[in-house]
Amino acid sequence: MLRIEINGIVQGVGFRPFVFNLANNLNLKGYVLNSNDGIEVEAEGSNDAIEAFIQGIQTNTPRAAKIDQFSLKILPDNGYNVFEIRQSKINTGSTHISPDLAICSDCIRELENPNDYRYKFPFINCTNCGPRYSIIEKTPYDRPTTSMKNFYMCEYCRNEYNNPGNRRFHAQPIACHQCGPELNFLDNKMNPLSGDPIDNCLSALNDGKIVGIKGVGGFHIACDATNEKAVIKLRKRKDRPAKPFALMCSLNNVLNIVECSPFEIHLLQDSAAPIVLLAKTKQSILAKSVAPHNPYLGIMIPYAPHQYQLFKNQDLYLVMTSGNINDDPIAIDERKLTSLCDFFLTHNRPILNRNDDSVMMPVNKGKNILLRRSRGYIPTPLSLPFNTIPTLGTGAEMKLTFALTNNRSVYVSPYIGNNNNKETEDFYKNTIKKYRNWFNIVPQIAACDLHPDYFTTHYAETLNIPIIKTQHHHAHIAAIMAEYALDEAVIGISYDGSGYGDDGAIWGGEIFIADYCKYYREFHLNYMPLAGGDVSIKYPKRIAFTYLSYAREDNDFLPDISKLEEKVISQQITNNFNIYQTSSMGRLFDCVSAMIGIFTEISFEAQSAMALEFLCGKESLDIVEPYPYTIANHEINIIPLIKEIKKDILNHTSKNIIALKFHKTIINFSVEAVNIIAQKTGLSKVVLSGGVMQNRVLLQGLFTEMQKNNMKVYYASSLPANDGSVSVGQAIIANKIINNHKSCL
Ligand code: ZN
Ligand code: ZN
Ligand code: FE
Repeated sequence: MLRIEINGIVQGVGFRPFVFNLANNLNLKGYVLNSNDGIEVEAEGSNDAIEAFIQGIQTNTPRAAKIDQFSLKILPDNGYNVFEIRQSKINTGSTHISPDLAICSDCIRELENPNDYRYKFPFINCTNCGPRYSIIEKTPYDRPTTSMKNFYMCEYCRNEYNNPGNRRFHAQPIACHQCGPELNFLDNKMNPLSGDPIDNCLSALNDGKIVGIKGVGGFHIACDATNEKAVIKLRKRKDRPAKPFALMCSLNNVLNIVECSPFEIHLLQDSAAPIVLLAKTKQSILAKSVAPHNPYLGIMIPYAPHQYQLFKNQDLYLVMTSGNINDDPIAIDERKLTSLCDFFLTHNRPILNRNDDSVMMPVNKGKNILLRRSRGYIPTPLSLPFNTIPTLGTGAEMKLTFALTNNRSVYVSPYIGNNNNKETEDFYKNTIKKYRNWFNIVPQIAACDLHPDYFTTHYAETLNIPIIKTQHHHAHIAAIMAEYALDEAVIGISYDGSGYGDDGAIWGGEIFIADYCKYYREFHLNYMPLAGGDVSIKYPKRIAFTYLSYAREDNDFLPDISKLEEKVISQQITNNFNIYQTSSMGRLFDCVSAMIGIFTEISFEAQSAMALEFLCGKESLDIVEPYPYTIANHEINIIPLIKEIKKDILNHTSKNIIALKFHKTIINFSVEAVNIIAQKTGLSKVVLSGGVMQNRVLLQGLFTEMQKNNMKVYYASSLPANDGSVSVGQAIIANKIINNHKSCL
């Protein structure tokens, strides 16, 4: 007899029916069941059949499953008569919860087949696909504990649900036209319109209307992406002048608007169906204002059946942006969005747990970075390289997430939001409560940011458990170390917007020697004054003015700055009033962008930094020389760089060349600083972290140059480089400090 134990993502993804059918095809006897640790199988039969069975389980695994551990034993035969799916052996509430899964090819086939029982049923799903995380109320995951509890299963569905050989065996959201949820098309006074909701929706979109579409984890706001007027109307209503919109189109149409390698097609079709950032094709049929001044588009393909129905037989390209007002958490109720939408395509299956679309950025050679880890990925835990005690990392403030650890797992929250307001805080606190219950974790320690004013810091202080405060960039580095199971001292670079430093200054251009417990700030950008602190972030021109004043350069050439602004800032500098010190790399990008006049004011985070990256185009950095800088006394002095850029501007050097030289300079001084540390310490592993590492030119340049110097280079991949992963770093640092681990520096 063969006994197999399988760990990983194996529950709620169709694993048992898959094993059941495989065993029956091979005429094996025994059983399969869900256990606390995963899947348990016993099988008896001929040697050939057993061999084929072992092979089959590992090669034809259901799409959404992921096997982490697979162990087998040969034991004496038990004399089984049949192969059956047995009652689960689960005794705690800490079962696995599957992420929401994009519609599978079998369900698509049925959806489109006029002879199928579920032909055109907008909520078709099976054990391989459909909502999971977004509909669960409490564990164990079972129909009565989901938002499907009010839909009473009809006989047809119940028979399938109870039939171990059926591909809907124990598919909790199973439903059909008779017994399932319904689509509805409403005007923005909540009146239902007669007719087919999908047809109504298509004609409203064709008319240039803005439609709120209820999806899996929340609402999208949609409009025709080829209609400039409609897109501009949406920008006005959303008060979002320039930030790129994500798009949805059918897989067949993707290549009409973006370049897409087979690997990237594969990413789009993943069961998580993330938004993938892809390079625009030269000639575009899309409205200019979809993603202005941006060579990339964020594309996803339909992942819910009703989305699939919308895009079927249509050359449709829709803006599908998160349904929220001003960066609030994504809406799950149409009544929140009446000021933005003319109509709603909605349904009566409640969303209990919102989660935004995830965002994936492909980088060099088939590697990709999750810029936002949310729908399709959460709440699957990431594994940690060591044991932890139950710990809550409360996160930072922007791109907020929290992280809960237990043993060797870390459960990261969905993307919570960017806003410091009541609704965001409520979403945050409620989700912490849910995670604690679902995964049975009672935090023994809390880890938070050093920043005294983050609400996540205050929240940690209310928990009445020991708190460990962690430096923001140390947490950035630790998160990536954990992703790669590095448990040793590394050279950690953190190029970021802002993070509270040990000395109260705003850090963000840091090169540390770090392990989990400690960090030494080996190098940082020299402090520059920031007039007005974080408020100035929206006005790169003010940053440029302040930096140039500090460098004792005149500011006459600076575009768009008013005499009044100059006067106020000059007074602040003279009186040292409301002046903050910063080593932020993000602010240096802002300064340079304003100097060359691309963005003197910005409407979304990192807008000017992105513009500088895009100015580089596809040109090689080899064609330019770097700007000057100096490295001494733990400081990388950027003043010579600023002075030279000004000279280039006055000499009418092209913006493209200035951008290339600027990127090359950062790469060069980073490599030089790393070499100094490597020579001094013998360290050879470099971690690249922080929001600025989302810049492809910089990331690839740093990676290549450091590899040439025989350094091993690591950057974020399954977690974001931005503040979305800070919570994970915090929790790990806290654990190591509590354990006072022997590897500490
Ligand atoms: Zn399916
Ligand atoms: Zn039914
Ligand atoms: Fe950060």
